[in-house]
Amino acid sequence: SVTTRFAPSPTGYLHIGGARTALFCWLYARRHGGRFVLRVEDTDLERSTPEAINAILEGMSWLGIDYDEGPLYQTERFERYGEVIDRMLEDGTAYRCYCSKERLDHLRADQQARKVKPRYDGRCRHLTEPPADAVGDPVIRFRQPHEGHTVVDDQVKGRVAFDNAELDDLIIARADGSPTYNFVVVVDDMDMGISHVIRGDDHLNNSARQANILKALGVEPPAYAHVPMILDAQGKKLSKRTGAASVMDYRDAGYLPEAVINYLVRLGWAHGDQEVFTLDELIEYFDIGEINHSASSLNPSKLDWLNQHYMKTLPPAHVARHLAQHLGALGIDPAAAGAPGIEAVVAAQAERSKTLVEMAENSRFFYQDPDGFDEKAARKHLLGAAEVLDALSNALAEVEHWQADAIHQAVTGVAEEQGLKMGKVAQPLRVAVSGGPVSPPIDITLELLGREAVLRRIHAASE
Ligand code: GLU
Repeated sequence: SVTTRFAPSPTGYLHIGGARTALFCWLYARRHGGRFVLRVEDTDLERSTPEAINAILEGMSWLGIDYDEGPLYQTERFERYGEVIDRMLEDGTAYRCYCSKERLDHLRADQQARKVKPRYDGRCRHLTEPPADAVGDPVIRFRQPHEGHTVVDDQVKGRVAFDNAELDDLIIARADGSPTYNFVVVVDDMDMGISHVIRGDDHLNNSARQANILKALGVEPPAYAHVPMILDAQGKKLSKRTGAASVMDYRDAGYLPEAVINYLVRLGWAHGDQEVFTLDELIEYFDIGEINHSASSLNPSKLDWLNQHYMKTLPPAHVARHLAQHLGALGIDPAAAGAPGIEAVVAAQAERSKTLVEMAENSRFFYQDPDGFDEKAARKHLLGAAEVLDALSNALAEVEHWQADAIHQAVTGVAEEQGLKMGKVAQPLRVAVSGGPVSPPIDITLELLGREAVLRRIHAASE
């Protein structure tokens, strides 16, 4: 059975590379009816913060990536790590190393000078008791087999062979007893029954070490899939400076989680030439074998396109929940008495906005009287329009049922009466009620605004 895990180190926000890893792990587990575990790798006490843990949990929950188990924290498992270390010391798969820092520094300098790969020389590997010159507590090293090769059949990278002679006797516990990174990963993967490790390819080299420790523990290593990294739109390494790298930045920039999910999955995975996937389709189609072998680059215009697609096609009530947050950020309460129904605002605006931020800004006038007019639009459309506005005000006051079709009739009626083209009537009206030259169709706009606001704004614009 399939069990995957996402194992972030909580040292910063949930960046999009991490989010994509989480998504791949989640999809793979869902596809195979397996389990998905969230494991927080917080043993680096100096760099791990509660804020970062929250940011990761928040990012996952915003994306809708849920987990069957967790969050599990490595800092809560030290007792278990100690147990496994004791067992390994007992069965000889690990040993105590008493070498001093000075000796190791010396050794390394000497190896560097001889241009050989720095590596522990195994002085303590065969000791049966502490050497006479031992000072302080020993570290614990893994007794790495030195013959043969360790082969990792990576499901993305293919077969990778590591020469065991080049693998160090890794320190698995420091002198103070605290376990080290590669070791705790191994114990966790074993205890959690992880069948598939899907993670960034910066961990590919660790996989040989981890697989060997697992074998020493008598456990079959999981299948590994190392995913190439994500580059920025220029093909350079992602950094905070080169654009939105945190999932929450995407939320704040006005993207829907559905769009971000679809965007992320396509950064490094393809299924034919299909671009848009429902979640069910992703779960049905996702396969590790289709993960790209090379890095993929961010493509902001594709994200915009996906976002617009989802704003237009998801149920307006769903989009509205997200829009409400962005309106809130502008100080607008979309649920205030007299405000237009937010779902209707979404339906009216979806065509015209790439992001929810844009949609919120474009919709401000539905909730607040414009404070002034777009200068160019006012010059072009309001100057000399007093008569038209007056006629509109009269005609609109008479509309019996304040609905788009009746409003439309009233506006066309004014155009005919004044011998003007529709645009010459609708544009002044639009600028008067919205403050600018762009809005959804004028009849819908007016219906949403309500008669009172429309007449008030026409009046204000005629002054
Ligand atoms: N904690 C590691 C990271 O955030 C991931 C380790 C793993 O997946 O094995 O890069």
